[in-house]
Amino acid sequence: MGPRPRHTSAAARNVKAPGAVATDMSESQHEQGEQVQPTEHHRVVVIGAGQAALSTAHFLRRDGERPGRELLLLDANPTPGGAWSHRWDALTFDDAHGIHDLPGFPLGETDPTEPAREVVKRYYGAYEEHEGLQVQRPWRVTSVRRTHDPDPARPGDRPRFLVTATSGSAAQGTETKASTRTLTASALVSATGTWDRPFVPSYPGRFGGRQLTTAGFVSPDEFAGRRVLVVGGGTSAVQFLLLLREHGADTLWSTRHAPDWTEVPFDAEWGRQVEHSVAGRTRAGLPPLSVVAATGLPLIPRYVRGIEDGILLSRGPIVRLTEDGVDLADGSHERVDVILWATGFRAALDHLAPLHLRAPGGGVAMADDDVSVPAAPGLVLVGYGPSASTLGATRAGRRAARAVARILTPTQATTKASRDGAGRTPEPAVV
Ligand SMILES: Cc1cc2nc3c(=O)[nH]c(=O)nc-3n(C[C@H](O)[C@H](O)[C@H](O)COP(=O)(O)OP(=O)(O)OC[C@H]3O[C@@H](n4cnc5c(N)ncnc54)[C@H](O)[C@@H]3O)c2cc1C
Repeated sequence: MGPRPRHTSAAARNVKAPGAVATDMSESQHEQGEQVQPTEHHRVVVIGAGQAALSTAHFLRRDGERPGRELLLLDANPTPGGAWSHRWDALTFDDAHGIHDLPGFPLGETDPTEPAREVVKRYYGAYEEHEGLQVQRPWRVTSVRRTHDPDPARPGDRPRFLVTATSGSAAQGTETKASTRTLTASALVSATGTWDRPFVPSYPGRFGGRQLTTAGFVSPDEFAGRRVLVVGGGTSAVQFLLLLREHGADTLWSTRHAPDWTEVPFDAEWGRQVEHSVAGRTRAGLPPLSVVAATGLPLIPRYVRGIEDGILLSRGPIVRLTEDGVDLADGSHERVDVILWATGFRAALDHLAPLHLRAPGGGVAMADDDVSVPAAPGLVLVGYGPSASTLGATRAGRRAARAVARILTPTQATTKASRDGAGRTPEPAVV
């Protein structure tokens, strides 16, 4: 069981975090005629508490930013675990691709039969304790606005963001009993992952049965005796097909293209190559491709058996939804009870909409360090594009902390670290 949520009650009472400095409402905010009165200011606000946020917080802390004071982490989830806290029961740690260690705190031995959700909740919770991160939750950031852009002619001039967050029921998607909080930050790290943005492709027609996405999947048992169409060409779809069959469902599989099976070993070198190719797209301002488009599907023995048993054979693309099923591109019609859309996720960036980050290519154009966003000085984005895996997220944390130090100006970062007795040798950049 993961550790209990902390700091929630103080946060819900809209209490200023200890050590946060009182806000001097900037001239620019008055210029823009905003009515919001921020209650606190932090040098760095990190949004999220998944692998990307925790790794970043580790390096920020090493640079002398004190959690709960200069550094504030806000997470929408009620417990530690990031997106992993929502994974379904039957996804054991053995079934996951595995997670990369967070910096300075190895995961250690795990029980491969334990649900991945529980392993990761416990691990992230212990990490938060170990690092003293004082994550405040559940706080969902609903909007981020830039209220001050640094003037290049004034050395040391820093950007300023206005962050609005809601807690209580509103953070869970309903409208009752919400608390709202506003604060300002000089540097903003957005590490919000993808789980909140499942993607469902659009097809003509209307299906009358039950539809759900990967994010809504709880247990295979509820589909016993039913005919389920699993849509999508990634690992989640493959795992659902095998799991549903084991639990008495009849299944069929639809993919847009032939499944991209690969015998390439998923090792560290392969991981680096995947990161490199994804970074090429995001630096060009193109949206990241789906995970499977970058990785392919590993031909592990379990999946080979699934192919031999006829479970992992795709029927090809859908052309139309009907009241009782789907029309497929091969001209056939299939009746199904349920459609499970395992069709991937998009980056959860709605809270950044006021910053107008979308590049002409449809994505966020990233700088060469793959975490800075040239269109929004002061903003650092992790868990996006090449850092959207536990390995990539961990590695990006170090670059993100260096980007934050540049935002806060190198001179100030050094001075502060020395003052706190936490002066550090600069970390080498990870490429
Ligand atoms: C089904 C599935 C299986 C996967 N399996 C693997 C695997 O085996 N190995 C692997 O390396 N990767 C896997 N991944 C990729 C996964 O995305 C990364 O591993 C990694 O966990 C993502 O970390 P993150 O910190 O970027 O995001 P997340 O873990 O999603 O964390 C984001 C956090 O931000 C919070 N948040 C979101 N929006 C807001 C907001 N507006 N305000 C405040 N907080 C917010 C969320 O509540 C969450 O706690 C998988 C992904 C999926 C979808």
